[in-house]
Amino acid sequence: MIDNGRKDDPQALAESLVGEPPAAPREGEGSGPCGAAVEPGIAGRTAWTLRVQTGCDEPCSYCIIPATRGRPRSRRPEGVLAELERVVAGGFKEVALAGVHLGAWGRDLHPPMGLADLLRAVAGRDLPVRVRVSSLEPMECGEAVIDLLASDARFAPHLHLPLQHASDRVLAAMRRPYTLDAYRRLVDRVRSGCPTRRLAPT
Ligand code: SF4
Repeated sequence: MIDNGRKDDPQALAESLVGEPPAAPREGEGSGPCGAAVEPGIAGRTAWTLRVQTGCDEPCSYCIIPATRGRPRSRRPEGVLAELERVVAGGFKEVALAGVHLGAWGRDLHPPMGLADLLRAVAGRDLPVRVRVSSLEPMECGEAVIDLLASDARFAPHLHLPLQHASDRVLAAMRRPYTLDAYRRLVDRVRSGCPTRRLAPT
């Protein structure tokens, strides 16, 4: 057994499995997951998923994640940027920023930050990589994020906005904090507000 809060710690994970520290990497092993090298994988894969956040405290009635993953916790921007530079140096061409509740990124930091701050910091590094924002809750997709994705070609022109249901009655029962009409207006804003760089909500 290992506490959720320590799952990112490889040593703690290894100790929980075998009761002793992990062996040093063998020759040819890299520093990626399960000893994988941080370099473009087989079949020419060049996309990397960079987890920047975990945990959630939303009240969605159908979801067990707040009970299993705990409160929102964000990776500090300097850690995100360091890993981004590492995987770009390893040859990756696209990096998806991901989180259990990505839109909550930065709220738990001191001082608090927002996802748009992280995107600005990423853009500021001007690395040769395309950055994709992974699934983003509709209530977290604000003007600053839309404007950044729409105006900066370093970001993939893509948004995944999980509606969850197209019935206001069901959305309320799910305790989702938006209506179908609000979702429609958000998608209209994304589509019509970006005339030069059309974003594609999915
Ligand atoms: S926002 Fe997402 S992760 Fe959080 S409780 Fe709702 S469905 Fe679960």
